[in-house]
Amino acid sequence: MLNDKDVLEAVRRRLEERGDGMKLGLPDTAKVTWHPLLEGQIVRCIETRTQDERLHYGSIDLSDRPEYDTLSRYRLAPPKNLTKTQKVTLVQRGSVTERSCDDCSNGKKPCPRCQGRGDLPCEASTTCADCRGIDSCLRCEGTGDRIRNAPDGQQPVGEREVCRRCGALDAACPTCRGRGRTTCTTCEGRGIRDCPDCDRAGTVPHQSCKGTGRTVTWTEATISRKPMIEPVKHPKAGVPYPARELARESGKWHALRLTHKDTLPENLADEFRNLAQPYLAPHEGEIGREATFKHLRLARVEVPQHPHRVYYVFPTDTSPQVLVLPSQQRTWQIAAAALGALLVLFLLLRLVS
Ligand SMILES: [Zn+2]
Ligand SMILES: [Zn+2]
Ligand SMILES: [Zn+2]
Ligand SMILES: [Zn+2]
Ligand SMILES: [Zn+2]
Repeated sequence: MLNDKDVLEAVRRRLEERGDGMKLGLPDTAKVTWHPLLEGQIVRCIETRTQDERLHYGSIDLSDRPEYDTLSRYRLAPPKNLTKTQKVTLVQRGSVTERSCDDCSNGKKPCPRCQGRGDLPCEASTTCADCRGIDSCLRCEGTGDRIRNAPDGQQPVGEREVCRRCGALDAACPTCRGRGRTTCTTCEGRGIRDCPDCDRAGTVPHQSCKGTGRTVTWTEATISRKPMIEPVKHPKAGVPYPARELARESGKWHALRLTHKDTLPENLADEFRNLAQPYLAPHEGEIGREATFKHLRLARVEVPQHPHRVYYVFPTDTSPQVLVLPSQQRTWQIAAAALGALLVLFLLLRLVS
């Protein structure tokens, strides 16, 4: 692990390379601040167990479902892969009850419309649609007795036929031929028709048992397992983006991989231990956990002789790497200079106009 001396030595070398290192009284005057960086993720498997009463209409085969006695004590193999979702459906032992419906016969009830007969009465004939039964025959008016005289050479209105009732020529309505009524098309004159509610069966499905005639009830349990992934990034703020990115890219991090059975290693520095420990608290319903951490100490160096710069130093596989960034003060100066230039330009423009 890098210490203050290594860091200052790295900065000094960097300044030497630039040709202005000799002027510095390193390390006495420089200020080193350490940022512990911790990154990674916590993957948890969260399990929930619920129990419900189930009702099924008709027969159902539950024999292939695993059985349990007390849900909380049911043992399910620990998850092999924490990121996979899993759902197991169980049946409580002895809870399956099959009943036949008391209110129907095998799921059927007599049709209320036809009272179980399957058919309905129907008028065998209906009033003639053409003559409406009023002038079915000009001579007998549908009675069969010629109660009127034949019209004297006068042609009747529209086509007329021989009356089936009284036999008069050119006297009867061509549709009903003097009868005044026509055969019902629904029952074709039979006087009964099929019941449309039960389609002639005389029975309809029993609503309460959905026509099945039996119900099955049981107690069902569901065990579901879902992954929960929590990213880890410390500190949330306070380290400039370029420094963090470069450290992420080429820094030498220490990796840690812990399951829910492991604790943080004894030799882990307190600054990382304090950051990582809160992540390892078990979550409600947690049955498995894998924490993947990597950590690195990033040094921030301020040198009074160079107030415009800040140095970030971190370990790599070879020698420590140094990143030079403008200081906060410098950033403000640049911003102020830019504003000043704008102001001058503004005043000049005012003078000219
Ligand atoms: Zn029923
Ligand atoms: Zn019916
Ligand atoms: Zn007639
Ligand atoms: Zn008619
Ligand atoms: Zn009819």
